Amino acid sequence: MNSLVLEGIEKSYNHGKPNEINVLRGASATIARGEIVGLIAPSGAGKSTLLQIAGLLDTADAGRVEIGGEVVTGASDRARTTARRGKVGFVYQFHHLLPEFSAVENIVLPQLAHGASAAAAEARALDLLGRVGMAARATHRPGELSGGEQQRVAFCRALANAPALMLADEPTGNLDPATSDTVFDVLMELVRGTGLSALIATHNHELAARMDRVLRLDEGVLVPA
Ligand code: ADP
Ligand code: ADP
Repeated sequence: MNSLVLEGIEKSYNHGKPNEINVLRGASATIARGEIVGLIAPSGAGKSTLLQIAGLLDTADAGRVEIGGEVVTGASDRARTTARRGKVGFVYQFHHLLPEFSAVENIVLPQLAHGASAAAAEARALDLLGRVGMAARATHRPGELSGGEQQRVAFCRALANAPALMLADEPTGNLDPATSDTVFDVLMELVRGTGLSALIATHNHELAARMDRVLRLDEGVLVPA
């Protein structure tokens, strides 16, 4: 089973206006289960647009999106929201953790929203925190954690609902180079250890080289980098 299929994705902004811009012009990619794929794109090439469409936060003008074996093209908003919450985990450059909740609570909450029991949610959260070396920090709030530790928690939260796919946008981009390196290793181990698939956007070619393969967004289509 493929974790993500993008087929002929087209997206333009300001449609029909003089400033119309065709950002995606038939972008296609298939990510197999367990595969970690890098995404390299110059600024303005459409990286965010592509990740938003792959993550069901935006819809394409044309093309087909399939996540975790489910075709989501043309699905209702409600079905897309359910699919997004259950099948996609997002990681951003900044952690977006809830400041008033502890690390473990930040990972429990999305599971409760998705229908998990409190006991199961906590067990999963603690298991995930252990995988990223954060077991001893479970009850700390984000403000009591370093930048690298906050990102580790954010990785766990992305995996809270056992998604088919992780979408990451510069997941270590706000960390200093040494920390970034270590935290990126943690991310790769977490993804491989849980059998997850990932599409990880980065400007860092060294980090990209650690992935299974790398795609480049070029003139609105995806090509091998
Ligand atoms: P990247 O993430 O690679 O920097 P984006 O996907 O954010 O690129 O944007 C690609 C292009 O589309 C840019 O030229 C950007 O200005 C334009 N764009 C993005 N979002 C919108 C929008 N909502 N309305 C109009 N233009 C947009
Ligand atoms: P909830 O309502 O349970 O908080 P959502 O369905 O709104 O969850 O969001 C699911 C995921 O999508 C979360 O990881 C959230 O961070 C991300 N997300 C939601 N809206 C946006 C957005 N406009 N831009 C980027 N990410 C978003």
